[in-house]
Order: sequence, then C-alpha cells, then structure tokens
Amino acid sequence: MIINSQHFDAIVVGSGSGGATVAKELTERNKKVLILEWGSNAPIKGTKWQALGMSGIPGRSLLFTYGMLATVRAIATGGSSVFYYATAFDPPFDMLRSYGVDITEEINEAKRELPISPLSDDLVGPMAKMIMQSARDIGYDWHKLPKIFYQDKCKSECWRCNYGCPYGAKWNAHMYIKEAVDKGAELINRAKVKKVIVDNRKATGVEFAVRGIRHKAFAQKVVLSAGGIGSPVILRASGVRNAGNDYFFDPLIAVMGTVKDIKGGKEIPMATGVDMEDEGYLMTDMTVPAFLYAGFTAEVFRFHRLFSHSRTLQIMVKAKDSLGGRLTNSGGVRKRLTESDKQKLLKGYERAKAILRNAGAKNIFKSWYIAAHPGGTVRINDLIDSNLQTEYENLYVCDCSVIPEAWGLPPTLTLIGLGKRLAKYLTGETKTAGKNRDSYHKA
Ligand SMILES: Cc1cc2nc3c(=O)[nH]c(=O)nc-3n(C[C@H](O)[C@H](O)[C@H](O)COP(=O)(O)OP(=O)(O)OC[C@H]3O[C@@H](n4cnc5c(N)ncnc54)[C@H](O)[C@@H]3O)c2cc1C
Repeated sequence: MIINSQHFDAIVVGSGSGGATVAKELTERNKKVLILEWGSNAPIKGTKWQALGMSGIPGRSLLFTYGMLATVRAIATGGSSVFYYATAFDPPFDMLRSYGVDITEEINEAKRELPISPLSDDLVGPMAKMIMQSARDIGYDWHKLPKIFYQDKCKSECWRCNYGCPYGAKWNAHMYIKEAVDKGAELINRAKVKKVIVDNRKATGVEFAVRGIRHKAFAQKVVLSAGGIGSPVILRASGVRNAGNDYFFDPLIAVMGTVKDIKGGKEIPMATGVDMEDEGYLMTDMTVPAFLYAGFTAEVFRFHRLFSHSRTLQIMVKAKDSLGGRLTNSGGVRKRLTESDKQKLLKGYERAKAILRNAGAKNIFKSWYIAAHPGGTVRINDLIDSNLQTEYENLYVCDCSVIPEAWGLPPTLTLIGLGKRLAKYLTGETKTAGKNRDSYHKA
C-alpha cells in the first residue's frame, strides 16, 4: 500500500505526549495529519492485564539494561502517558532558553487548556498524607504536587489510574489523539515505522509495517515522536548513526517501610513530594499496586514482606543521572549507573528512611534500581536544531529524546509545550529561527 503525499501535510510517528500534541495542534490548524502508532487503540480499561499487555512485555515495552535495571514504556495509543502518574512539573525554562527554545507561551496555553492542580484533600490517599505529615514534621517543604486530572471524574478511593484510568479522569495523550481524529486526522494502529524515506537529504515519507506487511506513506513533513527509544532507532535506520548515544534515564528507587494502624495500598501515586534540586533528586509518595510492590520486594529477596502491601508506606527517590550509555540498533538499552548517580540515590534513601522512621515505620528497605524515563537520545543542539529539525530537511523529532541535558523531572508538560511550539513553527505561525541552527550539525 502506498499512501499518497497529496493527501497529508504531515506524518506523526507515535502518539505519546509529544506526538499527540503535535498531531492535535496541526489538525486544529486545518492540516491533514497521518498518525502512525505501533500499539493498539484499545479503549483504556484500567485492568492489570491490559496494563501488562501494553507495558510489561520483555523486549518490547519492558527493557533491561546492565545490572537488570528495568525501563518501562507503553506501546499503545497515548504511549506511556496511559500509565503515567500525571504529575506536572514546569519545564526548566532557562535551561531550554539557553538552547534557543522558549516554550513559556505554550506552557501557559497548556495550563489554560488542561486541568493542572494539586489533588483535593479527599483524593490524596492516607499513605501519601502520612508521609507528607512525617516529612513536614522533620522540616521538609513536602507539599501536594500539581497533577493533570479532571478531578470531578475521579471515583473515591480509586487507584485504577495506575493501570490506565477508565473514567477519563487522568489526562493522557490518548485524549489529544481522539481530538485530532475527531477533527479529521487519520490514525493507523499496529503500524511500526521502520525508516524515513529520504530523497536528496529531504524527508518525503516513511516506510512502516502493519502485521508484517510493508507500506509507504508520503507527506510534506515528518515528525518522529516514537519516544526516547523509538525515535533514535528510526533515525539510525534512516542514516543518522549517532542517534541514541549518551542519554539519561532518570533512575529511581522505592523506599518502603511497614506501619501499624493503616489499611491502605490503593491510592493515586505521586500526589505529594519535594524536589531536592540541590542534591539532584526528587522524593514523592509512590503507593504502587500490590503486584508491583510484590515485584519490588521479591527482586531484593524480602519475601517475608510480600504480603505487607496494605501496611507499607512507599517513597520514590528519583535522581538526575549523568548522560551516558548507548542504544542498540534494535532499541536495546545499554547504560550503567555511575557511582555519583548511585550516591545521589543513596543520599535520598537515607532521607526517605528518616521520614519513614518518623512516621513509625519498621522493616525499612529499598527496591532495586529502576531506569524510569529514557530521554536525551536525540538532543537539541547535537542531532537536531532548536526548531527540532534533524539534518534532513522536513524531518523533525518531538518527544523525550530531544531534551538537551540531564533531566530528573517528570517530562510530560515540557513535551506538550514542545509539541505546541513545533506545530506553530510547521504552520508558519511562528518563525523561531533557531540560533543554534548551524552549530548542531555533527552527523
Ligand atoms: C509508571 C510511569 C509513571 C510516570 N509518571 C509520570 C508523571 O507523573 N509525570 C510525567 O510527566 N511523566 C511521567 N512518566 C513519564 C512519561 O509518561 C513519559 O516520559 C512520556 O510519556 C514520554 O512521552 P513521549 O512522547 O516521549 O513517548 P511515549 O509516551 O513513549 O510515546 C511514544 C509512542 O510511540 C510509539 N512508537 C514507538 N516506536 C514506534 C515505531 N517504530 N512506529 C510507530 N510508533 C512507535 C509507542 O507505541 C508510543 O505510543 C511516567 C512514566 C511511567 C512509565
């Protein structure tokens, strides 16, 4: 099958937060958009089995790097935002500006458009409240974090957003894709993009496979939004050999301790926390579902804690790691934690332990290291310019890959801002002539 270029102004590859925003914004500006998404478009059910199918398949959505650090990504319409915790952190505006990227206006727009605010008290679970109280008692500025939730749609004592919210309460990129499709964008699911078609250093389309059968689609612009792992793999197959080197994965640990007089374990994670910016990590509550908790305990051989989930307080410590490692051509992750990354996490562990102890917790232990969000694999000013254009004309990247430096923050709001900015640029609404346009070229 060949999908004709006359028909599409842009092809967007991947439908996570970055791609969904670009697709929605272009469609709203009357552009004809084709979205190619590797995963399915199944309605979000909020069940463990659906979550495992979309984000727990080894080699596809569950990847392991050296030392058995697990990285999770969702292969589905909406990408990882289907299972994320919807905590919205402002981007580091100054850092992005230093690369010629100003998304202040776009973030303000996103804040007007999306329901971003801390959870109301009744939606903050008892475990998060206990942790926040304890942290404040010993002097931390631990507070409720901004979340992207239509809170009026939340059910009381509900925690199914961990598996994808079936009630439309947690904002996720699936919603932007639906808006785009309702306004005329075409979405093809189970379409795995293999490479970009390049003619005389200009992107003209992509090659993709649906159930093993190869197809081609052509358009004036191509935007890769296949995520921190997906986009560099496609770029490499298209001749950009340096994609996927020296990236970050925002490693984390869960610190757990058992308390009496509580029967919890089912609440919205990451409702409260504190950014220990000077020490390079973030601490938040993170009450995960029982089966994931069981995984955390089993991997560090705390089998006797397996059945204490409903009494175990959990704090996440997430660090800003140094850039390093490489992806393989097929998307295998190959990165080690450095000693300094470990030291940050261990410092956070000591602090989290003190907070849990103060809350009366016993049997405190930590999970194995987890590699949370891979990004920085196609960095601005390295492989793309500040307009997010690659070395090939008409080929852009917009997802977690483009983040130019070590990160350590929840990235979704930033990606929405970048997606809005790119759509404006592609439609000529803004001319953000990148000041780094000529200096990035390395390939
Ligand atoms: C458990 C968990 C909790 C999180 N909590 C938060 C949080 O609270 N706040 C926050 O900001 N962030 C959070 N994150 C991180 C956040 O969800 C991701 O970093 C973000 O969604 C990445 O968006 P993206 O657009 O870069 O890529 P993705 O969301 O990974 O989207 C990429 C899309 O591309 C598709 N794709 C990949 N390869 C191809 C291909 N070859 N062809 C076609 N399609 C392809 C994938 O199927 C996917 O749909 C969390 C992540 C996890 C796993």
